[in-house]
Amino acid sequence: MEVHCLSVGPLGTNCYIVSSGKDSLVVDPGEDAGEILSVIREKGLSVNAIIVTHGHFDHYIAAGALQEALGAPVYTGADDLSALRDPGWMAEYMPPGYIAPKEIKGLSDGDTVSAGELTFRVISTPGHSPGSVCLYSPGVLLSGDLLFMGSIGRTDLPGGDSRAIRESLVKVGRLPDDTVVYPGHGPSTTIGEEKASNPYMD
Ligand SMILES: [Zn+2]
Repeated sequence: MEVHCLSVGPLGTNCYIVSSGKDSLVVDPGEDAGEILSVIREKGLSVNAIIVTHGHFDHYIAAGALQEALGAPVYTGADDLSALRDPGWMAEYMPPGYIAPKEIKGLSDGDTVSAGELTFRVISTPGHSPGSVCLYSPGVLLSGDLLFMGSIGRTDLPGGDSRAIRESLVKVGRLPDDTVVYPGHGPSTTIGEEKASNPYMD
């Protein structure tokens, strides 16, 4: 498995292109569709799915443009579908020329998303938003804005829930210590490192 990270948009969102051979998944295309597409084309990848870990604009602004260019389905946590269908309070952050994803499929806890030999299990991790999900494949966790190196996602935005995020952190804390965590912002880390040093993970 290869995990390619691009920092996109003004909030420095991590967009991941996860691939095995020529099969790939794009996770959190927060902006800069052109840049993401050029990496995909350079590597000659076929994209099986575009996955949005949660319904915040900085994680999905480019989802519609990529869907149009690649014809791949867009997925997000079932409880965040409405946030992708109608940006609501986030409308003012949408750049000119924003393309909304046309068809969005909801993910629930335990669902799997595959691309060739890659398979990720969906872990429902509400708190930062109601429909936040993490994607887990043995050894790798794409954590969205649940867990960062040394920190966690904010819970003060509409739909945030500080109690729920604690429970979600307990859930991912049960994964093996050597699981590499690729967060929605900032550097990668491991579950073991965060359990040892992240004050929110005790
Ligand atoms: Zn967010």
